[in-house]
Amino acid sequence: MQLFIRMMMVCATMLSAAFMSVGAQATGMASVSVAGNSKPLQPIIIQGPMPIEAQHFAALLKDVSIEKTGSFVFYKGTLNGYPVIVSQTGKGLENTAAATAIAIERYKPLAIINQGTSGGHDSKLAVGDIVLGKRVVNIGNLKTPSKKAGEGSNSLTWIPMDIMASSGSAGSDDANKIRYYQGSPELLAIAKQVKYQHGKVVEGTVGSANFWNSELDRIAWFHENFGTSVEEMEGASVAQIAEAYKVPFLSIRILSNNITNGGHYDPNTAKECQAFVKDVMVKYIETLQN
Ligand code: SAH
Repeated sequence: MQLFIRMMMVCATMLSAAFMSVGAQATGMASVSVAGNSKPLQPIIIQGPMPIEAQHFAALLKDVSIEKTGSFVFYKGTLNGYPVIVSQTGKGLENTAAATAIAIERYKPLAIINQGTSGGHDSKLAVGDIVLGKRVVNIGNLKTPSKKAGEGSNSLTWIPMDIMASSGSAGSDDANKIRYYQGSPELLAIAKQVKYQHGKVVEGTVGSANFWNSELDRIAWFHENFGTSVEEMEGASVAQIAEAYKVPFLSIRILSNNITNGGHYDPNTAKECQAFVKDVMVKYIETLQN
């Protein structure tokens, strides 16, 4: 009789485990859960544009499975027992906006970190320093003033454009302003506590556009008018989509180059950035588990 009861209990446990994993697959969420809590945990998404900006972090995860769709790769695993998904987005605003929307729809993340390399706009920042994105701005959203044929073009006279100012025409003057997206204060506070050995960690403004600026006067113009610390090609598109879905977001960017002070491109910074972001995530996960 005792044996029969024990067998019934084993069967019941197996059935409920099967139902839980079916439920997790149906919602597309990572099926990691803590003991006594059958609700799947919401994963954290870590984005990196290029393989050198994503694969070091992916290798730090446990129990990894790879999911691909279109050109997008998601490494689904765990870090210290918590579900983390590394998303290799590809370069640029469009790839990264799409990867963000896919990740939000599929995985219902708790938070999104966009990280990787960047070019300095601030001569006080050296290659290897890290900027925590207190705010992020699309520095490619610009209008030109009117000029007649033959009058040429001068990018230093261009006007900021906020494409989210209204649902009407961006040609109207109320769109002539800079839109900043704020980094999550909670994630920022955690990132500020993390120690880093290869340089400074500062709060700053991350500027994004599908543009590699190498004109020092233009870089100075962004730095003065938009307050940019660095430029890269992704963060603002993530910030925009994350805000649309109300998902907490933080940009963490290392300087891989800085022509304002002669800082040459160093691809090894991509790995240092991921190592720093890993330490930030370990701290964040600690706060979630407490
Ligand atoms: N220089 C690199 C190519 C980087 S391509 C190489 O030769 O391999 C652009 C990518 O690097 C984007 O994902 C962008 O976010 C980042 N990036 C780094 N520095 C940048 C800069 N100065 N301007 C624009 N993007 C930069």
